[in-house]
Amino acid sequence: MRVFQSPLELKNELRSLDASIGFVPTMGALHNGHISLIKKAKEQNEIVVVSIFVNPTQFLKGEDLDKYPRREQADRRVCELAGVDYLFYPNADDIYGKDEVTVCAPNVRGYILEGTSRPGHFSGVLTVVMKLLNIVNPKNAYFGKKDAQQLNLITLMVKQMFMDVNIVPVDTMRDANGLALSSRNEYLTPIEKEEALKIPLSLKKATNMVMSGIYDVKRIKEEMTNILLPNEISYVAIVSREFEPLEKVIPGNSIVLVEAVVGSTRLLDNIWL
Ligand code: AMP
Repeated sequence: MRVFQSPLELKNELRSLDASIGFVPTMGALHNGHISLIKKAKEQNEIVVVSIFVNPTQFLKGEDLDKYPRREQADRRVCELAGVDYLFYPNADDIYGKDEVTVCAPNVRGYILEGTSRPGHFSGVLTVVMKLLNIVNPKNAYFGKKDAQQLNLITLMVKQMFMDVNIVPVDTMRDANGLALSSRNEYLTPIEKEEALKIPLSLKKATNMVMSGIYDVKRIKEEMTNILLPNEISYVAIVSREFEPLEKVIPGNSIVLVEAVVGSTRLLDNIWL
């Protein structure tokens, strides 16, 4: 595995290859969710590139940028073992300069749900993803369905900017208890981890209701809210795959989303129905 810090050196190196490139952008503290993206990239491409960059522009003031877990040595080892060909490990100065040109998330879709509690977050995400895709120039880029709104906005950006990359959604990996894997799970105390299990439980409830023929969004959200602690809920929402609000679940075209703050940790999860 070769490790690059410089965007231009990596770009030149990758441009010289005559091979299909699969790209997995991450913020590190790699877990099995990230590894499932890498595995999929390995299956579908000749060369796999992973980036590890804790992107400052997607954190709002007062968020966890400084305490976000950074584990360079362990992450390098994980990438090596997973068969990654190139690891891109830039720092903020390598990626950002002065007088930045930025990408703006769309007014509605970028400012609902997670965009309401984190205004500007998705503009930071889209800006860094645009930069990373332009550096790596992959055939396929892999993103988790766990960050469904992020995946939707990136897919939209790639389409609207006529970018030449295929965005591949990857299913959410969970631990044995059903909790969606996340680098932020490290912040949870054992008691909070128990509490957090209510999130996948509420999604299971929604799934069971839909499977028994109940499609009414208001009713499903009420039942989910009863499972979650009210003071922990940021939002419970059911939207179409294009993030339009729904009154009735449309099987095959719906996403049920939860964001809850457990202790002081923001946790996201969703299920695609
Ligand atoms: P992050 O390092 O949290 O920015 O995540 C990097 C990529 O991994 C994003 O595309 C995430 O959606 C994806 N990801 C994070 N957690 C999971 C998970 N539990 N299962 C599958 N993909 C995930």
